[in-house]
Amino acid sequence: MGRTVVVLGGGISGLAASYHLSRAPCPPKVVLVEGSERLGGWIRSVRGPDGAVFELGPRGIRPAGVLGARTLLMVSELGLDSEVLPVRGDHAAAQNRFLYVGGALHALPSGFRGLLRPSPPFSKPLFWAGLKELTTPRGKDPDETVHSFTQRRLGPEVASLAMDSLCRGVFAGNSRELSIRSCFPSLFQAEQTHRSILLGLLLGAGRGPQPDSALIRQARAERWSQWSLREGLETLPQALNTHLTSRGVSVLRGQPVCGLSLEAEGCWKVSLGDSNLEADHIISAIPASVLSKLLPAEAAPLARALSTITAVSVAVVNLQYRGGRLPVQGFGHLVPSSEDPGILGIVYDSVAFPEQDGSPPGLRVTVMLGGSWLRTLEARGSVLSQELFQKEAEKAAATQLGLKEPPSHCLVHLHKNCIPQYTLGHWQKLESATQFLAAQKLPLTLAGASYEGVAVNDCIESGRQAAARVLGTEPNS
Ligand SMILES: Cc1cc2nc3c(=O)[nH]c(=O)nc-3n(C[C@H](O)[C@H](O)[C@H](O)COP(=O)(O)OP(=O)(O)OC[C@H]3O[C@@H](n4cnc5c(N)ncnc54)[C@H](O)[C@@H]3O)c2cc1C
Repeated sequence: MGRTVVVLGGGISGLAASYHLSRAPCPPKVVLVEGSERLGGWIRSVRGPDGAVFELGPRGIRPAGVLGARTLLMVSELGLDSEVLPVRGDHAAAQNRFLYVGGALHALPSGFRGLLRPSPPFSKPLFWAGLKELTTPRGKDPDETVHSFTQRRLGPEVASLAMDSLCRGVFAGNSRELSIRSCFPSLFQAEQTHRSILLGLLLGAGRGPQPDSALIRQARAERWSQWSLREGLETLPQALNTHLTSRGVSVLRGQPVCGLSLEAEGCWKVSLGDSNLEADHIISAIPASVLSKLLPAEAAPLARALSTITAVSVAVVNLQYRGGRLPVQGFGHLVPSSEDPGILGIVYDSVAFPEQDGSPPGLRVTVMLGGSWLRTLEARGSVLSQELFQKEAEKAAATQLGLKEPPSHCLVHLHKNCIPQYTLGHWQKLESATQFLAAQKLPLTLAGASYEGVAVNDCIESGRQAAARVLGTEPNS
């Protein structure tokens, strides 16, 4: 009888792992187990009464680099080319990003000339920060917080305004706690290899083999900064589900895994409450902290390492305004923690993807709330009502964007523990997990946002690599 691989979690990581397993020349039997009734995890798109698309999770995927190209290749293999909505390089959403500091929006400088000009909220042209960077010696520590690394290399303003905001925008996290090595590995590697981030990024790490397709070539030629899908990004997990089912993968929904045990023959028993599955190998694409509670006693050291990978919550408030106008055109703006502890930023969805504005078109923006404000409320056990998030989001849209009229449509979602935090020393947790799995020869492979990147591209890549390891093929081919 052939091998059975059980994939835990039907988010984009588990779907991608199942996809790559199912396309192997001699695929194993694959069972994908999802706890909720819906596939896609944090990727979720809903429609308003006028047909407008509201993203409750990710809203744009970057096409850049080898991982961006691999995702586009999968999109083409799924037959979704005609659904892709690109943001081309010459578009305002590709060129303009803002910081909200001191009660005003400031455009982030772009291009070399932009670095030479004064660019508030920074007190000096960023050229000077670049000069400091080029002359700063290499750090000696095996890891450093994002804040300390940026302050050391680029100065306190770039650290406390730009990188603080970026950490809030990408990780909803605190730059003084997050690890540079794990959150921004290309910056860490650039310093290690070239002694300078700027030199490292300029000289590049050398391009490996790049996937190729008509869509990838189009994205390069038109310098896309990101893309979405016409009906929303949830089309991607839906298309993966259709593909998996057509390839004979069993996709189980509404079946939360409640325990894992090792049988005498070295295979797994996966407990689903009132039934069990047997597996020769497990790919776990559920959050690390959830997996840690399911592991058997034999894997206690692994469970301990995984339980320390925590995640933070984000409140996502989608707002739509009839007749509203933005004061600026761009992707959106970020808010540093010194300006507002709770508002992480606002994405101007209508600028990047006007095709999703509905009919008649309405202005869509998304306010993200989190940070120390939300953590404090959660720690105090405060009532986290929809009204509270809506009020705070409307206030931010009115103050920061001048959208003072009440919105015509509003959706509020509190995503609990949705973004894993790669805090200082995260790499050691991964190393101890990897060592344990290898030493014990456990037939378990880890994938998903908890480990090596939270972006959709990173998650898809983690699924691809997990599948390659199980199949015994070369993950980098
Ligand atoms: C608000 C928000 C905005 C974002 N914006 C962007 C963006 O614009 N661009 C971008 O690239 N990335 C973005 N991200 C990040 C990205 O969307 C996520 O990191 C990614 O979707 C995580 O995928 P995953 O499959 O690893 O995990 P998840 O999506 O968490 O999937 C895990 C799945 O496992 C299931 N599960 C959990 N426990 C069990 C169990 N016991 N048994 C069975 N199943 C279980 C869950 O129900 C879930 O479906 C954003 C994330 C959030 C939250």
